[in-house]
Formats: sequence, structure tokens, C-alpha cells
Amino acid sequence: MTTAAVLPALALREMRLTPHRRAVLAVLEHGHRPLTTDEVAAASTVPVSTAYRILAELVDAGIVARVAGAAGGDRHELAEAFSDHHHHHLVCTECGIVTDFDPSPALERLIDKEVGALLGSTGFVVSHHVFDVRGRCRECASVDA
Ligand SMILES: [Zn+2]
Ligand SMILES: [Zn+2]
Repeated sequence: MTTAAVLPALALREMRLTPHRRAVLAVLEHGHRPLTTDEVAAASTVPVSTAYRILAELVDAGIVARVAGAAGGDRHELAEAFSDHHHHHLVCTECGIVTDFDPSPALERLIDKEVGALLGSTGFVVSHHVFDVRGRCRECASVDA
């Protein structure tokens, strides 16, 4: 369970798992896409100002990752080390919505292989990759169709 995985990281920072922090983490854990501060606040019933502060703390602690949306403000998800699966993002440049998508094993193998080949001689040690695809979501694309 993610909340349990997060406990050592919180302890390291001497941060307690308060009810508000627990509520914010639970929303991020169960979200299927990166969420804005307002969305986290609404879903967790934590006041917006508190959600804003908690998200900033959790980003500082490396537990939550900020996802650059194209519009509508920063979005947040559990950092990959604390989430249960590796995924990529589709970013709509019109409305700013960010959707998760699962890469195929073939895509992951291709990325690892090509990145390894390109960086092989540089001495750079790869920990993970981020791969976002930008475009227009179905709703935004249909407006112009
Ligand atoms: Zn859109
Ligand atoms: Zn990947």
C-alpha cells in the first residue's frame, strides 16, 4: 500500500502522517491522472490553502511529483518511487488536462535500448525517464473538427 511506503520518507523529514496529509496522499494514490491543487482539495475535502501547503511539502520531500500541465496550473501525482506503476503522460495543450498512459513493453525496451546506446559513452547513469506526449485531447480536438 502506498501510504505505508511513504511513511519512511515522511519520517526522514520528521513529518507526521496527519489526517490532512493522509487524505491528500489517498487522493493522489487513487487518481488516474495528475491532479490540480483544486482537484486534490475537492476530492480530499482538505481546504485549498492547506492542500496547497501540503502538496508543496510533499514535493519538497520527493514524495509527490509536480507535472507541468500546459494550462490550468500545476498538477501533481505520487512520485514514481511511491506509485505502483511506471507510466507516461498525454498533455493537452488547449485545456491542460494530463492523462496517464501505459507504455507497451516494446516501447519501454526501445527507449531503454536507444537511450543506453546514445548515452553509453557519456558516463551518465540513468535512473528513470519521463516521456510526455503533447497534443489536443479528444474534446479539444473535436471543437475544430
Ligand atoms: Zn483538452
Ligand atoms: Zn517509460
